[in-house]
Amino acid sequence: MAFLIANAQVWDGEADERYPAEVLIEKNRITSVARGNGQIARNGVEVVDGAGMTLMPGMVEGHCHLSFTDPMRNQALGEIPPEEHLLRPCRNATFILNHGFTSCYSAASAKLRIDVVIRQEIEDGYLAGPRYRAAGPEITVTGGLGDERKQHMHAESFGMIADGPDEIRKAVRLCCRENVDNVKINISGDEFVSYARAEVTSMSEIEVATAVAVAHEWNKRVSCHARAAASVKRAVRNQVDCIYHCDFADEEALDMLEAVKDRVFVGPAFGLVHNAVYEGDRVGMTQEVVDKMGLRRKLEATCRAYHEMRKRGIKVVIGGDYGFKITPMGQNARDIGHFVKFFGYSPAEALRCATSVGGELMGLKGDLGVIKAGALADMLLVEGNPLADPSVLVGPDRLAMIMKDGKMHRDPRARSVAPERRAAE
Ligand SMILES: [Zn+2]
Repeated sequence: MAFLIANAQVWDGEADERYPAEVLIEKNRITSVARGNGQIARNGVEVVDGAGMTLMPGMVEGHCHLSFTDPMRNQALGEIPPEEHLLRPCRNATFILNHGFTSCYSAASAKLRIDVVIRQEIEDGYLAGPRYRAAGPEITVTGGLGDERKQHMHAESFGMIADGPDEIRKAVRLCCRENVDNVKINISGDEFVSYARAEVTSMSEIEVATAVAVAHEWNKRVSCHARAAASVKRAVRNQVDCIYHCDFADEEALDMLEAVKDRVFVGPAFGLVHNAVYEGDRVGMTQEVVDKMGLRRKLEATCRAYHEMRKRGIKVVIGGDYGFKITPMGQNARDIGHFVKFFGYSPAEALRCATSVGGELMGLKGDLGVIKAGALADMLLVEGNPLADPSVLVGPDRLAMIMKDGKMHRDPRARSVAPERRAAE
């Protein structure tokens, strides 16, 4: 089947502005992008009228946790038996696609096999969901983020605990055996961990080096949790591919990131700190708790770091740690507006983080997250102009079309509510 999307304003994932163009899709690829109208023959194609709308690439969630099912506490994820724990992430996969995310890069699976079986179910065509790069659990050391045990008390969460190079090697190999795409390691602590705060660097140099070496030998990518400056440097020195958070990156850490900006991705996962500071009362997190945990200070540090990242041209992806009680899944596109408001990005720069840079993170540079001839046909038709107001991408209401791999997940021709809203605008 071939589709022609006509009359839309195209934002192609790279340019600063939209332009009027027609886009032809054959099978799962974009085969032609012609500026203006009436340039592409209509015979034998299904014409989709994009009048009044923006055609843009499907969004890429760069820090996804489909298996984080709204926990208030990390250990709540360890208390769900595997059978129940599979169902909600399946629904999340469809839910996030309904919100315009046609690709997701997992930043950890709460249990080892959840991500990989979901990826397979999507690939086999049984489950509606995004293109998905599956991760394993967060490999962490005793006492690190993800170790919820207490002496005499067993507890699990999203962590896979391993100490020393031998155990780390085995943990990574387990993830490889179960066929993850990404291995996740926790190099620093976190505000939410009383015994290992964000500025503690918990995983040793040799442990990080071992994890990355093994994962790369198995052709896997490595992402890490790294808030402390020392943990960011440890990640860069040891060839980690995607470094999350980096809140307390100092000048030296920023210089090191800049030196490897051709191959390393960074993601702030800002939604979590944003919601904790500004919207914590929704889940009973008082301002007193926010202050006690140092979250306001962390937020300021994150903003400082990402102003620098933007200036230095470091590749940053969106993804806000959505999936916790405080960061409900579905808010994911709010990150784009956060990049503009808090980090000084232009809307076009922030949207690139959500599309073309994300496509590169997915390992499909120039093929995904862009609208150009030859690229994969993952696209959205959006009512409104995300360059003028990125919030039109939040919530599924304004997404008239969601196309993934050349197939209509949401077909605009089936819509009935659009005309009044368009008239109102
Ligand atoms: Zn995360």
